[in-house]
Amino acid sequence: MAVRQILFIPDPMLRRRARKVQSIDSSVLRLAHDMVDTMRDSAGVGLAANQVGDLRRVIVLQMPEEEEARIYINPEIIRREGEREVEEGCLSIPGYRGFITRSVTIRFRALDHEAKVVKIKADELLAQALEHEVDHLNGILYTDHLASHEKLFRLESRSDEAEDEEDDSEDSSHDERLSVPTDQEILNILGSGSPPVDAREAPATLKIR
Ligand code: ZN
Repeated sequence: MAVRQILFIPDPMLRRRARKVQSIDSSVLRLAHDMVDTMRDSAGVGLAANQVGDLRRVIVLQMPEEEEARIYINPEIIRREGEREVEEGCLSIPGYRGFITRSVTIRFRALDHEAKVVKIKADELLAQALEHEVDHLNGILYTDHLASHEKLFRLESRSDEAEDEEDDSEDSSHDERLSVPTDQEILNILGSGSPPVDAREAPATLKIR
């Protein structure tokens, strides 16, 4: 198991649709366990395979009160009910958070690491995280759900993330309002360019659908 590098916007991998996993083999499990390590290393609640540059439909989550990580393969939101405004962030968009609308409850289906079907009804943070991670597999980022420019804000500098805030020369009061930046603009603000990934590059191990 290993910590993999998390991709940041505007890496094109984050905008691509991941493909269904056809069989849960050792390669898929290695990916999933590496994703758990990577998520924990970054103190995240969830991670999708696109974020480590792999286009297979695998997500991992770990709720703050839970000791074990969840591994979900081919996850689907099969029903959504209600709307609520939530604050959200993403490991691939460091330094920002935003207010968006998510569902109050969801019904969710996936395979677990033993290829058993898991069906759950979720609310609160788990529902939010599942919607966020399934979005990733469809190339969707939470910033796509922002209702207006005022709904995104930049976090204050934190000493342990100094390198993400190098360009933070302006006043960075917590509620500083910014217009919704494009993926490229956020990257420029972060000042840490990840090299563009060849859009044709994709794992050749799986057949599509
Ligand atoms: Zn994310």
